[in-house]
Amino acid sequence: MNGIYVTPEFDVIRSDTRCIACRVCERQCANEVHAFLEKKGVMISDEAKCVNCQRCVSLCPTHALKIVKNECRLRENANWDHATIQEIYKQANSGGVLLSSMGNPKPLPVYWDKILINASQVTNPPIDPLREPMETRVFLGKKPEKVTRGADGNLVTTLPPQIELSMPVMFSAMSYGSISYNAHASLAKAATELGILYNTGEGGLHEDFYAYGKNTVVQVASGRFGVHEKYLETGAAIEIKMGQGAKPGIGGHLPGTKIVGDVSRTRMIPEGTDAISPAPHHDIYSIEDLRQLVYSLKEATRYKKPVIVKVAAVHNIAAIASGIARSGADIIAIDGFRGGTGAAPTRIRDNVGIPIELALAAVDQRLRDEGIRGNVSLVVGGSIRSAADVVKALALGADACYIATAALLALGCHLCRTCQSGKCNWGIATQQPELVKRLNPELGSARLVNLMNAWRHEIKELMGGMGINSVEALRGNRLMLRGVGLTEKELKILGISHAGE
Ligand code: SF4
Ligand code: SF4
Repeated sequence: MNGIYVTPEFDVIRSDTRCIACRVCERQCANEVHAFLEKKGVMISDEAKCVNCQRCVSLCPTHALKIVKNECRLRENANWDHATIQEIYKQANSGGVLLSSMGNPKPLPVYWDKILINASQVTNPPIDPLREPMETRVFLGKKPEKVTRGADGNLVTTLPPQIELSMPVMFSAMSYGSISYNAHASLAKAATELGILYNTGEGGLHEDFYAYGKNTVVQVASGRFGVHEKYLETGAAIEIKMGQGAKPGIGGHLPGTKIVGDVSRTRMIPEGTDAISPAPHHDIYSIEDLRQLVYSLKEATRYKKPVIVKVAAVHNIAAIASGIARSGADIIAIDGFRGGTGAAPTRIRDNVGIPIELALAAVDQRLRDEGIRGNVSLVVGGSIRSAADVVKALALGADACYIATAALLALGCHLCRTCQSGKCNWGIATQQPELVKRLNPELGSARLVNLMNAWRHEIKELMGGMGINSVEALRGNRLMLRGVGLTEKELKILGISHAGE
């Protein structure tokens, strides 16, 4: 049966006057869009394969290339837009589930952009972060209700295990397999230099990265890939992954074609085997079951490591978080519906879950109402895009934020959203050696450090403007926030007033 023609998403525009047929674009494009036509001595393109990653555009020595949106459209129809029709054609041709990667691109509300931050004027002076000390350090973990000190002033209370971060940001879970060795190396080096943590994701820890253990969160997901005693011992904290914002309620699948060499060794599964993470943990069907795993992991690491439980932001997240806080977990990580992924079914990514802003406000409030807020720290992720988003998240009640897409952008990601293909032209979401080497881990790590240092400075400036000199004093300080263009209901859930009030 012949398939239906699917209109290419992009047009490759090549300037004949600039192109010198050097064939750089041909070598740089793993999607084989460009080719040299020997007979005519010119370059040609197969735009149907182009994903608009901008690699060829960036590296063309004569700036001869431009990738633009293909304007070829069917007749306008407000009910059946172009993308919807094209997706139906693709499914009619393939009979398969549509796959996507990175975060939800739909124009759903971004509440961060409807929340504004306060600044001090006249009665409460701002603080100049260049001249006054500003504390950006945070400690994540269970906080004791009371702290007692001995006569010498030293702590008598034994503190539960804590994570110390130099700033309230960590690199979120991205597995070795979904991203490359060099991407992991960049994250590990940068986290160590910055005094923050990165996260192994569910793919285990490559032996080369054990040296960065003090700055690593080791993840235990439903597939239990690469989990063993030394792995748990090495991490600064252990994260149980129950869910992920980009694909709540479903498992993960890394195809056997990507399970090669070191990836297979690190995951402890044979080469060529599909790495399937089941949707549920097969031993967790209640908070009591979760508690058993939390305490098994604590027991295995002699109660020295904080345990994080990561969940996707879903409708009854406040009740779920309340259960997790009572399970013995030290930290709850909540991933909003705009969170990224290496691969997810498009329908799930675009339609399941709730915004992190609403989930965070609801959880923080619920834990306060129940008097158990100090039992856990809250870490939120799912499209934290800037220092301003971090500050807003802290004021809404978070202890720290997880970032992943922003970190990948610092590594050179161009958000073409086709990580699932394994042909990332920027050397990030790929295992192909010739592509992996395009990302230099030293340069990648330096750019991550730059980004975080820039955010740290901006966080200090924003806090200084509010007259606040520590992250601790900002946490849960919703008086510092005002909403614009939000309904009564949205303001109520966020627990903030409208601008002008
Ligand atoms: S996929 Fe990337 S490298 Fe290939 S033609 Fe398109 S923009 Fe250029
Ligand atoms: S990681 Fe690579 S494949 Fe994925 S969105 Fe970024 S540039 Fe595209």
